[in-house]
Amino acid sequence: MIYDLIVVGGGPAGSAAAQQAAGAGLHTLLLEKDPFPRHKPCGGGLSEPAIREFDSPLPDGIISGDCRGVRVIFGNLVQESRFPFRVATLTDRAAFDTFLLDLAVKAGTQVRYERVAEVKPEPEWVMIRTDRGTYRGRAVVGADGAGSIARSVVRRRQRRDILLFSLSAEIPIASVVRNSPAAELGAQEMVEIHIGRVARGYCWIFPKGDRLSAGIAGLGESRRTIQAKWESFCLENGLTPTSAPRAHIIPSYHPDDPLVADRIVLAGDAAGAADPFLGEGIYYARLSGKLAAERISSLLASGSSLKAEDLRPYQAACRKAYADELLYARSVFNLLFRLPVWLQRRVFTNADVLGRYMEIPAGRSTYRRYWRWLLPSMPVALIRSHKASTRKTLDG
Ligand SMILES: Cc1cc2nc3c(=O)[nH]c(=O)nc-3n(C[C@H](O)[C@H](O)[C@H](O)COP(=O)(O)OP(=O)(O)OC[C@H]3O[C@@H](n4cnc5c(N)ncnc54)[C@H](O)[C@@H]3O)c2cc1C
Repeated sequence: MIYDLIVVGGGPAGSAAAQQAAGAGLHTLLLEKDPFPRHKPCGGGLSEPAIREFDSPLPDGIISGDCRGVRVIFGNLVQESRFPFRVATLTDRAAFDTFLLDLAVKAGTQVRYERVAEVKPEPEWVMIRTDRGTYRGRAVVGADGAGSIARSVVRRRQRRDILLFSLSAEIPIASVVRNSPAAELGAQEMVEIHIGRVARGYCWIFPKGDRLSAGIAGLGESRRTIQAKWESFCLENGLTPTSAPRAHIIPSYHPDDPLVADRIVLAGDAAGAADPFLGEGIYYARLSGKLAAERISSLLASGSSLKAEDLRPYQAACRKAYADELLYARSVFNLLFRLPVWLQRRVFTNADVLGRYMEIPAGRSTYRRYWRWLLPSMPVALIRSHKASTRKTLDG
């Protein structure tokens, strides 16, 4: 039997692609290596544009809280800003991804929990070999995340200079030092971002009900360079992880990287669809997965071939829908992290710079607008601003 579409990976990109394709009547198979619900190292923060994608409120058990404030910490400087609007919604990724996969199943997708070992394009179909069997699909969406197997068919080399390396852990509130500010984040509907601990990156603490999601991410880092920084970050913030942190890559978009090959389309992390500054990838994964399935189903409906050149309009659609925005995000990241450290301290803890930035995840602004504001306005903001407050460490 030949499927119209085989989707590799059941994360937000894969489930969106499968839901869209099955909903359009394609005979769709989704292959996922881990039985759901599965753990995914992630802050689980959903921006307002990501939330608006859903027609109805997310069901119970997925949302662990709202974020209406941000505390940015750089050395002993602290900028705490609260907003009259919601900046993000914090979710439990295991429950959220299971909900998304269920939507794909309800639309008619067949799901098999099998690990894909090989993706091999043939003239009339793509052959997929898993740890349990072999399948054939007229088209494949590679939505198998940052370490994608499908990507290796589309391009040989993965750029390393634009990848954020991260360590993260979920920490039970019960094991957080009681008087630490981190323990109060949930009640305050606040997240903490710590800058200056890695040269080009940051640490975060997100409240998740009875847990905290904490992590460190940096460009050009590796497990070797980041481990000690993670340990001192945890120690200084009263965090006592009950398990070793998980290592992960947050990929990034590059306009020269192809996203398609004959009969194959990449989506989500496999396509580098993540914000290089905020690390937000769920929204872009869903968008790209949907666009990939739309292109494939329209080609199948018109009886066209599925050669790379037929699939290439998908790349243009991604560019228009979100990738230009990700390039602006990279420009902002590069500009701010290339400033001398003394200036970074002032910029990152500046109320105007932060307040304008948080309008992006809140869906009230874009990186493009922010970039245009930042360049001429940063010097004025720095002169006008009050000094950020100073911070006491846990041990006084
Ligand atoms: C530490 C960290 C924190 C983050 N925080 C946030 C955040 O707060 N908000 C946000 O929006 N984004 C965040 N992100 C990014 C976000 O997690 C990803 O961008 C998003 O999950 C991408 O979705 P995806 O479907 O492309 O990939 P994934 O969610 O990684 O899903 C890929 C799926 O493919 C499966 N798979 C992989 N290989 C195979 C195989 N060979 N065979 C079969 N199945 C396979 C995996 O098991 C997985 O289920 C964070 C990322 C990290 C690493």
